[in-house]
Amino acid sequence: MLEVKNLHKSYGGFTAVQGISFTLKPGDIFGFIGSNGAGKTTTIRMIATLLEPTAGTASLNGVDIIENPMQIRRMIGYMPDFFGLYDDVKVWEYLDFFASIYGVQKRDQVIDEVLELTDLTVKKFSYVQSLSRGMQQRLCLARCLVHDPKLLLLDEPASGLDPRARAELKELIAELGRMGKIVIVSSHILPELSDFCNCVGIIERGNLLAFGDVASVVRSIRPVKVIRLSCISDLHALEAGLKAYSSIQNFVGTNDQDATIEFSGTDEEQADLLKALVNQGHRIIGFNEDHADLEDVFLKLTTGAVN
Ligand code: ATP
Repeated sequence: MLEVKNLHKSYGGFTAVQGISFTLKPGDIFGFIGSNGAGKTTTIRMIATLLEPTAGTASLNGVDIIENPMQIRRMIGYMPDFFGLYDDVKVWEYLDFFASIYGVQKRDQVIDEVLELTDLTVKKFSYVQSLSRGMQQRLCLARCLVHDPKLLLLDEPASGLDPRARAELKELIAELGRMGKIVIVSSHILPELSDFCNCVGIIERGNLLAFGDVASVVRSIRPVKVIRLSCISDLHALEAGLKAYSSIQNFVGTNDQDATIEFSGTDEEQADLLKALVNQGHRIIGFNEDHADLEDVFLKLTTGAVN
């Protein structure tokens, strides 16, 4: 369990992180979303024990980052947004070096396992500088995994990757979640996060504006459901019939066939409404909730301002 408690970071008179708190459990994949300069890297580096908080703290499985930073470092894997790799070594030598620093037992076996997990087995004896950008990214992640950390802090891991490399990275991160690790992934590419994070946080100017599972964060900005309706019978007759329903907040026809309905009822009431419309003889071919995506939430919650 990771508990982040009221973390602050100030540089002189400037406060980059203004009291961030959240809790994550094993298996959680947390998408940490914010514009450039919002405070993501600062927060991640504090949790990684590389920056001392001005106030507040965090603990991982009860171990405090301020009281026991060395113990925390053994429990985390940190992949910075700009990482350096050692060029003149082979992939296995690079991993062996980090595994030995962490005092990993059975290093050969562990190296083979992380290479398999990151799909780099075929590159085991290649030089690091001969790897593509995506492979180097995966090697950096493999390096973060050699000591079997409980928490992974991945700062913009997908930046600079092509769509295929991104998709592979997403699959790998999802696998780490299934292995029971806590994964924090920062990004400002929103659609990228919503498909594989079970939980998101939106940060702006050092404040966490929203935190929770994707659906509840989305619902927090749009309590009314928006339903997209399509019918091949008379849309005006259908609209007239809807006046009887108090849960219909708004009805906007977009053409002769399609309309958008704002609906404040429950899922059951939504199902009953569809049934009633069909029973009234309307020929409905589409009746689906239009889910706001993270991009909508992000744009609505944030002002785009940076400190
Ligand atoms: P990006 O997406 O661009 O990486 P970020 O959300 O990771 O942005 P941070 O790097 O955490 O943002 O920076 C947060 C704020 O703190 C920025 O305004 C930045 O300029 C400021 N900042 C970061 N490090 C320092 C420092 N050492 N001294 C002064 N200000 C700093």
